[in-house]
Parts: sequence; C-alpha cells; structure tokens
Amino acid sequence: MAENLNLLTSTQEVIKEALNKLGYDEAMYELLKEPLRLLKVRIPVKMDDGTTKVFTGFRAQHSDAVGPTKGGIRFHPDVTEEEVKALSMWMTLKCGIVDLPYGGGKGGIVCDPRQMSMGELERLSRGYVRAVSQIVGPTKDIPAPDVFTNAQIMAWMMDEYSRMDEFNSPGFITGKPIVLGGSQGRDRATAEGVTIVIQEAAKKRGIDIKGARVVIQGFGNAGSFLAKFMSDLGAKVIGISDAYGALYDPEGLDIDYLLDRRDSFGTVTTLFESTITNKELLELDCDILVPAAIENQITAENAHNIKAQIVVEAANGPTTAEATKILTERGILLVPDVLASAGGVTVSYFEWVQNNQGYYWSKEEVREKLHKKMVDAFENVYNTAQSRNINMRLAAYMVGVRRTAEASRFRGWV
Ligand code: NAD
Repeated sequence: MAENLNLLTSTQEVIKEALNKLGYDEAMYELLKEPLRLLKVRIPVKMDDGTTKVFTGFRAQHSDAVGPTKGGIRFHPDVTEEEVKALSMWMTLKCGIVDLPYGGGKGGIVCDPRQMSMGELERLSRGYVRAVSQIVGPTKDIPAPDVFTNAQIMAWMMDEYSRMDEFNSPGFITGKPIVLGGSQGRDRATAEGVTIVIQEAAKKRGIDIKGARVVIQGFGNAGSFLAKFMSDLGAKVIGISDAYGALYDPEGLDIDYLLDRRDSFGTVTTLFESTITNKELLELDCDILVPAAIENQITAENAHNIKAQIVVEAANGPTTAEATKILTERGILLVPDVLASAGGVTVSYFEWVQNNQGYYWSKEEVREKLHKKMVDAFENVYNTAQSRNINMRLAAYMVGVRRTAEASRFRGWV
C-alpha cells in the first residue's frame, strides 16, 4: 500500500489516537478533526501593469475553546484549503504544548511573492486583511508570518486593520517590525526554540553539543539561524542544503561565510560546484539531523538509512507516519515539529502580551522566558513518551490536544 503523504489525514489519525489514549470519546474527535471555521476569500488586486488579478485566500480557525486562535499567513503558489486546515490544527497542538492561552489558526494566499513587486504585495496584504476582517482581531484570531511572509507584510496588515478599527491595533498581528510593537528576538525565535530542544534531547542521549556533528536541511529563516546557533555552541555543522542541493564538509562548514552569501530566499548552494543532493544529505553519518525545509522528507523509503541518533523537526511535517514508526523502532530520538518549532509562536505570544500591556521586555527577558517554556514543554512530552511507552509524536499530540479537549468539555460543547 502506498504511504500516506496527506498532511490532513495523517494529522487526524494521530489526533484520534491521542484523544483515545486520553479517554475521550468519538464526539470529541468529531469536534477536533477539522477547524471550527474556514473562510475562503477572493482578493482583487490592481497589478502594476494596470490589469486586475483575483487571488484566493483562506483563514482557518481550528478551535477557540481555550482562547483566541493564532497562527501565521503563508504566501505560496501551492497553498490549498487542506494544507491551511492541517496547519491550523498543528497550531492548536503547538499552543497546547508550550501552554499558551490560544487555539490554532492559519491563513494562506495562493500567490508567488517572488514574482510580485512590493506595491502588488502591499495591495494583496491589505486586501487580505479587509477580506478576513470579520473573523480576525486582537481578541479573536491573531495572525503572524509564515512561509514567504515577513515583518514588512505584517506591518502593512497591522496598518490596514488599524485604519478599519480607527485605532492603533498592534495586538492584531505578531512578527511586526520592532518600531511597530514587534518583540525582541521574534525573528530568531523558531531557531532558538529548536536549539533549546536539541540541547535537551542531546542531554537525554548523552551527546555533547561541543563537537557534535549536525546536518540541517534548509537554509531559510529556521535553518540558517539554527546553523549559526549550533556552530556558536561548538557543534560541527557538516551539512546544509537548500532547494537546489546540499553542501557537505566532514570537518564542519563555515556558517558565517554561508550566511553572508545566502539570498533572501535561503539559497546558497548554487554558488558552489561540489554539492550533494538533498537525499544524500539526509542520509549522512551524523549525530543530529534537523529537517528545516519542507514536508515529507523522511519517508518509509529512506527512514532505514538515517544515521543520526537524534532527529529534530524544525520544519512542519517533514517525517511521515510510517517513517516515525521506523525511526522510533530503530531507537532514534525524534523530536516532533509541534514541539520543536513552537518557539516562533511562543515569542509571538510574548509580542501580543507586550502589545496588550504597552510595556516592552529586553532581549534577555524574552530569551529567558522562551527557554523556560521550551524546556518545560520538552520535559513534559519526553516524560509522557517514556511513561506511556509511546513515540514522541503521539506524546506531543496528547500533551497538545488535552487542554483544548478539556476546555471544550468545560464549555459544554461535548
Ligand atoms: P524559508 O522559506 O525561509 O526557507 C526554506 C528553506 O528550505 C530554503 O533554504 C529553501 O531553499 C529550502 N527548500 C525549499 N524547498 C526545498 C526542497 N525541495 N529541498 C530542500 N530544501 C528546500 O522557510 P522557513 O521559515 O525557514 O521555514 C522552513 C520550515 O520551518 C517550514 O516547514 C516552516 O513551516 C517551518 N517553520 C518555520 C517557522 C518560522 O518561524 N520561520 C516556524 C515554525 C515552523
């Protein structure tokens, strides 16, 4: 039978199993197997050449049982309704795992920002906010950046919402520039969170980060900051990659040089002649492997060839259900995406809290609070996996979904 590569159905399967283990009945699964709300919008945008192009966008709100929903907006040609739904469900899990008073949300627009001018991107961003304005807001649903969206796009969106609200509303969106109420450390929060869980996982496996051989797939926001943090900690980053290929040096790559040369879309390998493939990269002999690019990279096909002792998912959905089983059976410690990449939403929450109170924290305060959240989350998931003798993904789903299920029950929904 062919492997299930569908992100929505594979997420539903684990949620079902997690709810089952927590003792909830079928009705709770029926409530949580899909987002509560999904808005599909059409956004007309005046293009630079005078024509009008109509874009399709989505906003999914998985559950608002715990609090307002929260999650990024993705600009990508491959965005689909199904993907946005699955991503909103992962946000519920992430918020549950790091204990934030939110449910999961997610948005997306089918577009290719690499082919659009700044003016077109601004009009599209503002048009999206107008289109979804009825269901979003600082106490309803708080967006953030995701793939191919950044602080500038968040600034336009915040400005558009503030105009409609006739009030400055920084708490409408997170990931803003610092001068507009952004938080210190938000841009590197995901990679910092991944670094913290790598350190915790390494302790469990008795691996010294100093000198540990690390391979990272993807050299974008998550992967490149992570490579820098790991090499600053004394690890040997022996492999990195982008969409066009991978670089390998058993003695450790010069990360500062690569950071200096990469472009804004995370491309750097095209500057080198001697490269390996992404497939070869994943199978390199190393201690720690971090997929930080796209989904479905570790599958039943290559899971037997992974040589790392620890796999930490910085990307969303890089390992299939079948591969999760194989890695676990082989004794590899897999730190799942919903735990490993929760640093981004954690500092987004800190940004929202700072916006709401109008009082801003230092870089050190943010870092310290993030550290505590990630270490507590790792311990909670790890201990759940150990005590119940289950894999880390199922344990993370159990920890992540529990609060939303409990809140739904207390509200009398199920
Ligand atoms: P990005 O767009 O900044 O970078 C993506 C990187 O992956 C680039 O280097 C790109 O060249 C590479 N890539 C693209 N297609 C590839 C392919 N087929 N094979 C190998 N490499 C490929 O994105 P990002 O923000 O770094 O996000 C990466 C992953 O991390 C995504 O799954 C994203 O959902 C997840 N994530 C990111 C954040 C965040 O705050 N940035 C938070 C949580 C999760």
